[in-house]
Amino acid sequence: YKEVIMAPDVMEQVLTTTAETVLARRYYLKDDAGNSLEDWKALAHRVAEAVAPEDATGKNEVTGIKQLRDDFFTMIYQLDFLPNSPCLMNAGTEIGQLSACFVLPVEDSMDGIFTAIRNGALVHKTGGGTGYSFSRIRACNASVKSTHGVASGPLSFAAVFDAATETIKQGGKRRGANMGVLRVDHPDIMAFISAKEDQDKFNNFNFSVAITDLFMAALEADKEYDLIEPSTGEVMGQLNAVEVFAKIVDLAWHNGEPGVLFIDAANRDNTTPQLGDFEATNPCGEQWLLPYESCNLGSINLGNFVKNDEVDYSRLGQIVKTATCFLDNVIDCNVFPIPEIGEMTLKTRKIGLGIMGLHDLLIQLAIPYGSEEGRLLAAEVMQFIRDRCEEQSRKLAEEKGAFPAYDAEINLYPARRNAALTSIQPTGTVSMIADCASGCEPYFSIVMMKHVMDGDRLLMVNKHFEKIAREQGFYSDDLMVKVAESGTVVGHAEIPEKWQEAFRTAQDISPEDHIRMQAILQNSGVDSSISKTINLPKTATREDVKYSYISGYKLGCKGLTVYRDGSRDDQVLNTTEQS
Ligand code: ADP
Repeated sequence: YKEVIMAPDVMEQVLTTTAETVLARRYYLKDDAGNSLEDWKALAHRVAEAVAPEDATGKNEVTGIKQLRDDFFTMIYQLDFLPNSPCLMNAGTEIGQLSACFVLPVEDSMDGIFTAIRNGALVHKTGGGTGYSFSRIRACNASVKSTHGVASGPLSFAAVFDAATETIKQGGKRRGANMGVLRVDHPDIMAFISAKEDQDKFNNFNFSVAITDLFMAALEADKEYDLIEPSTGEVMGQLNAVEVFAKIVDLAWHNGEPGVLFIDAANRDNTTPQLGDFEATNPCGEQWLLPYESCNLGSINLGNFVKNDEVDYSRLGQIVKTATCFLDNVIDCNVFPIPEIGEMTLKTRKIGLGIMGLHDLLIQLAIPYGSEEGRLLAAEVMQFIRDRCEEQSRKLAEEKGAFPAYDAEINLYPARRNAALTSIQPTGTVSMIADCASGCEPYFSIVMMKHVMDGDRLLMVNKHFEKIAREQGFYSDDLMVKVAESGTVVGHAEIPEKWQEAFRTAQDISPEDHIRMQAILQNSGVDSSISKTINLPKTATREDVKYSYISGYKLGCKGLTVYRDGSRDDQVLNTTEQS
């Protein structure tokens, strides 16, 4: 391996033990005996090297190839920005598939269904996650002309998708992840809603109901709405919206599924309606895509952008520019799993620039996550990122051309290089590498106690909490044990009120405040969508879940996932990675 020569102002990076463990297990390239061939520096170098050569055309005189590569290296190495896992794992390797998100169409025919399963398998093999809408598949018991029989319906086929995923273990690095979507006006909707009641079924899927505005209006008016057979467009019957919603709510209350996707809200923001409608998202819900589109994601670590008790906008702006160039370059050096995906992706050139470490930023400024001040700052930062990202994408359009599907007569926005720019991904793994709170989520715990050998206990204290507690003089092992045992920083007299507020965790923050944060981010600079969990206490009622979904819809969210504390034995998301 080549020696990496670092610019003199790049600081040597020390990763946490957790980060090193995760990297060694799944990200560093290995020799045949399983020994790591890389360290963090070599990995960052491999990724930068693989993604930068694209500019060798010489067209880009402003940045120049070498400069871009070094900037890419530095921002990854210093954990200011991390691309999604497939990019970190596959860049510069034979696989070469660098995107996390795919949506594949499922046509209403044997050929269509099994083509989708095959295509999904090829995507999973490379570490990508797939979203499918099953809404085009004719309902159970609808007639099948060619065989004079009856159809078995979307759910029976979804089981085959699930089994296929189970079989492919993605080279031992990631198990496959799928999103399954069914429109609320599909005749099989009731069976779909309760499909995951049996927790042994569809374990490789997240299920979400695509909710329409028409349905929400019927819900408000306590009315019936039409069920439509997709293969014929016929109205097959009606259901009462209140009853259907009650079923969704009941099951989500039980174990967090199904989630809801507000499909009309998403389609209102479709930047290329001339190419089709959104039907589904990727597995974690943050990226709406057209059939056969893929998207590569990357997240800026906001925890790294605090300077003199303020947001360091000047450096943040620089990183947004570099990150935008990086994600755009990825599209050109990407190896697409099937030609249809390559074709569609190159037409719209969507990227998903997101954030992680939002809570780290707020903590360093002593602003509570659940406060109006916290939301306003989060919105300001996200809007700043979106604006700078668009500025750069427009500049790239001038240099290299707008995304090919751009049509100034239909798309009433200035020409840019990428049809979508921002989304907030969960960063389940990359936030562990960067050692920050994931995505736009608050921390889940501040002090944890691990029981090690011989009855010894090991305290794991949040890095910010430890630093602040020591600086402010309220640190003691006894206090840390108390925080670990009670599971919260709230209510301990030793901790100043201000810090109790700043260190409230996901469970200490009210569901309303979770939703408000998601909504304000969605409305302030997020093009696609946001992966976020609305945490509810164990004691939350079905009414609370219902209220969450309705207020999320009213506030302009494009989807919502709730999780009631303790309701699921085995959380599907973010534990989808093999340990
Ligand atoms: P990471 O931190 O590993 O980059 P995220 O947790 O941010 O990944 O997830 C981003 C997206 O990556 C998800 O929405 C999904 O599309 C995809 N993804 C996540 N986990 C998996 C998995 N186990 N298999 C396939 N795709 C996945």
